[in-house]
Amino acid sequence: MTTTDAHKCANAACGCMTTSAKHCSPRCEALEMRPDIACSCGHAECKDKTS
Ligand SMILES: [Zn+2]
Ligand SMILES: [Zn+2]
Repeated sequence: MTTTDAHKCANAACGCMTTSAKHCSPRCEALEMRPDIACSCGHAECKDKTS
């Protein structure tokens, strides 16, 4: 197992961690410009933070 460089998703409304790209998912990449919209990446971690 290699050492991964995990970092938080670039979407401010998202709390997911990602290691491969700037965003954890294409959805976050699209929502980065819309911080007023709740993250919809589908990750359980994020869903729990909505409200
Ligand atoms: Zn998310
Ligand atoms: Zn994300």
